[in-house]
Amino acid sequence: MKVMVAVKRVVDYAVKIRVKPDKSGVETGNVKMSMNPFCEIALEEALRLREAGAAGEVVAVSVGPAQCADTLRTALAMGADRAVHVDSGTVPVLPLSVAKILKALVHVERPGLLILGKQAIDDDCNQTGQMVAGLLRWAQGTFASKVILDKENQTATVEREVDGGIETISLDLPAVITTDLRLNQPRYATLPNIMKAKSKVIKKVTPAELNVEIKPALEIIQVTEPPKRKAGAIVSSVDELIDKLKNEARVI
Ligand code: AMP
Repeated sequence: MKVMVAVKRVVDYAVKIRVKPDKSGVETGNVKMSMNPFCEIALEEALRLREAGAAGEVVAVSVGPAQCADTLRTALAMGADRAVHVDSGTVPVLPLSVAKILKALVHVERPGLLILGKQAIDDDCNQTGQMVAGLLRWAQGTFASKVILDKENQTATVEREVDGGIETISLDLPAVITTDLRLNQPRYATLPNIMKAKSKVIKKVTPAELNVEIKPALEIIQVTEPPKRKAGAIVSSVDELIDKLKNEARVI
């Protein structure tokens, strides 16, 4: 059974985010970009399923500008068998467009499982997995913290961390799974695998070739930084702290 994994290129989690002077978005020029951490977890899970014999080929897909090829090279170096880059040029791609593109690719690739991150850490949308499952009319197991595939019965058992415990659900395959933080610890790509990945071919397609229009249906009006925190003060005693909390902050 083939597994398709959606991997997004985002500003690295360790970068201090700066808003562009015209407030149109976040500064991405000269900034370290990496694979979205939840997508690393998604890819790791697909690789583990393949290594356990529960899944076959692992295909990584990324939608975005030319630089997404770097993210896909990382995916190949981690162990993906193939990579597909859907080149959207400079047009911003929102979750609904990505979901439509993934649906179109599913019709080409015919995977038994589509794994995505639960959210991208740049837009924090947490929408793409749910949207693509809806468009495909496939079952969805979101926020997965454990995945077990049953090839014989063509089902996936997914554990999800919910308020107050773990919810276990069974999905008929094909299905969409989105990954939570505790599902696994992604591997690092080894140097030999990074070198090997450089010579692998990344298939390139355009949204138009997949018959998907990526015109955004919403416009970002403004992005602003949160107000700066005021400097703190060091108090000399617990009594002084209590006095300040009572009479200055008026919180107790
Ligand atoms: P979001 O709905 O934007 O929070 O993203 C959730 C997940 O959808 C990500 O972790 C990826 O697995 C997938 N995804 C979103 N945007 C893209 C993209 N441009 N290319 C590939 N996968 C994406």
